[in-house]
Amino acid sequence: MSLLVTGSIGVDTIETPFGKRENVIGGSAIYFSYAASFFTPVRLVGVIGPDYPHDLKTVFKTRDVDLAGLEVRAGSKSFRWHGSYVHNMNEAQTLSVDLNVLAEQAPKIPDSFLDSKHIFLANTHPKLQQDFLSKLANRKLVVADTMNYWIESAKPDLLDLLKKIDGLVLNDGEAKLLTGEKNMVSAAKAVLKLGPKFVVIKKGEHGSLAAVGDQVVVLPAYPAEVVIDPTGAGDSFAAGVMGYLATQNSFSPSTLRRAMAYGTVVASFTIGGFSLEGISRATREEIDERWDELKRTISF
Ligand code: AMP
Repeated sequence: MSLLVTGSIGVDTIETPFGKRENVIGGSAIYFSYAASFFTPVRLVGVIGPDYPHDLKTVFKTRDVDLAGLEVRAGSKSFRWHGSYVHNMNEAQTLSVDLNVLAEQAPKIPDSFLDSKHIFLANTHPKLQQDFLSKLANRKLVVADTMNYWIESAKPDLLDLLKKIDGLVLNDGEAKLLTGEKNMVSAAKAVLKLGPKFVVIKKGEHGSLAAVGDQVVVLPAYPAEVVIDPTGAGDSFAAGVMGYLATQNSFSPSTLRRAMAYGTVVASFTIGGFSLEGISRATREEIDERWDELKRTISF
């Protein structure tokens, strides 16, 4: 069983109260793949330009991530993002974004990936997410992420996408922007009316809230003391959720609650360092330890 992901592969410049890192590895598909590989083998589809400054084969050397779908597009340039958390560790301020290769056609899905059943559409243009999905005839569980940038610039494409997926993961600000609802329970219910069978709303250090059918699930975040760089927390959260769901073949409220607990724990590793430094220090045993700890923390 494998989990197929497509999304951005980025060259990030990140500023937080702990410093600045230039041209580090980033992108939604990168964080997702690394984090999901603690749960299940991952197949990555993404595109970079020849200018990409990191060797992704080395980055994923110790992880079960199949890079057959990594395209290095001649004559193109890699996606770049410059974000700051200096004023608010809960929300990235985008200082600049160069879509470059993300504004072009989607990367090709290798034939060996076409039988994939579990699909995660990490954050990228919703049109690319839809094109991608249309090629996967065996899909069983499809979950997507999105962000304010796409809600504002490509809403019709996003609304089309929502009719074709099982689950949507987004943060509280994005849920407000998408639905116009200020209350998160109302926002979650409004998202379900747009198509998905379940929705998980991330609330940063305040945890997460999900709606599935007529049930609502809430979970606090793992009480992390060290937050160095929140970049990738959302993708890592989604990876824990989707990685676990992919092994369960269900998204019942109780399965979803356990999945969200894995998401929050995986994200707690990512935020412990810049770029992939935090998550690359984690082991599956430590993830399970924190999961048990979170469970103890919230049982009453
Ligand atoms: P998050 O998990 O939400 O913190 O995602 C962080 C990653 O999203 C960064 O590594 C960026 O490279 C990537 N990113 C930022 N803006 C966009 C965008 N508009 N589309 C796709 N990926 C993005």
